[in-house]
Amino acid sequence: GFNCGIVGLPNVGKSTLFNALTATAAAEAANYPFCTIEPNTGRVAVPDPRLDDLARIAKSAKILPTQIEFVDIAGLVKGASKGEGLGNQFLANIRETHAIVHVLRCFEGDVTHVDGSVDPIRDAETVETELMLADLESLEKRIVALEKRVRGQDKEAKALMPLAQKAVELLRDGKPARLMLADLDAEETRQFKLMQLLSAKPVLYVCNVEEENAGIGNALSAKVAEKAAAEGAEAVVISAAIESEIAQLTDPEEKREFLDSLDLDEPGLTKLIRAGYKLLDLLTFFTVGPKEARAWTVRRGAKAPEAAGEIHTDFQRGFIRAETISFADYVATGGEQGAKDAGKMRVEGSEYVVQDGDVFHFRFNV
Ligand code: GDP
Repeated sequence: GFNCGIVGLPNVGKSTLFNALTATAAAEAANYPFCTIEPNTGRVAVPDPRLDDLARIAKSAKILPTQIEFVDIAGLVKGASKGEGLGNQFLANIRETHAIVHVLRCFEGDVTHVDGSVDPIRDAETVETELMLADLESLEKRIVALEKRVRGQDKEAKALMPLAQKAVELLRDGKPARLMLADLDAEETRQFKLMQLLSAKPVLYVCNVEEENAGIGNALSAKVAEKAAAEGAEAVVISAAIESEIAQLTDPEEKREFLDSLDLDEPGLTKLIRAGYKLLDLLTFFTVGPKEARAWTVRRGAKAPEAAGEIHTDFQRGFIRAETISFADYVATGGEQGAKDAGKMRVEGSEYVVQDGDVFHFRFNV
């Protein structure tokens, strides 16, 4: 699965947020055949209004959203990159994630702060510094190894070396390695990703505010939003405390009333899940019929057989073709039959690159 690691200093609200996510997932679990929740990993449904449109048109009995995982990564303290606290374990856990959800305390309150005062920008820098120090250390080791291989005329090492050096330069300058990504071509990006740098992962900031600021945030979350904008990142305002209350409400009407009383048009978690999905840079495709309308996820750039493989490995192995209708055509022509009649159903082969919103029927040999 694709996952976002939830990181942040102690006492910023990570567990509160994570528990709210898993409580929401558990409340909806009946709908999800493959829902497994490990202690620190929660799988949640990704809301997508397109799926509701498709289900309505096809009169599907069931709606199955696609899912992403959130991993609660506890244990970051200053000095983690030097092995302080659960430092090494913490960094290893981050390495396994595809993207980082960075929770920042933007609520005052009487909860103890590890650094004595509430300052989300300082906190963000503390965490980011640990990630960058860890990257520097691993890169410096890697460069020593690469130098040997370059002397031995190793082609791969020769390609990797300038990337590693560029990253070291950035990091020594106090900048995260992800800033390099914009200038790399596809092959360089692939090479770069092999280095698994922590500060190269995409980041989303979550401003955890107090209850009364849940709607529009506060002065602290505004500062975070400014920082995020300067980095080309996103910031989401949430009150983790409120989200854990919302997650307990199973009655839709009660939930609606509670949200209205807080001036929220949707739960903050919904915003967070959507932003997390966007952060992972994935594509959604659909399978639609009278039994169920279902959303699925593949990486950007995947070809049709790989998408088929998300459903079942047999579909990939025996792939023949994908009958494809774009979401827009499916809606505009009133569904599958309408799309066929209008000549909007395409027959695509194994080289077809999946587009976001494709509605597929896969044909395969068994
Ligand atoms: P973690 O260490 O980052 O996992 O933080 P926790 O989720 O355990 O939260 C630390 C403390 O802050 C707990 O006492 C929470 O009740 C409190 N807390 C978390 N979110 C909020 C919030 O939105 N508002 C307020 N006032 N307190 C919060």
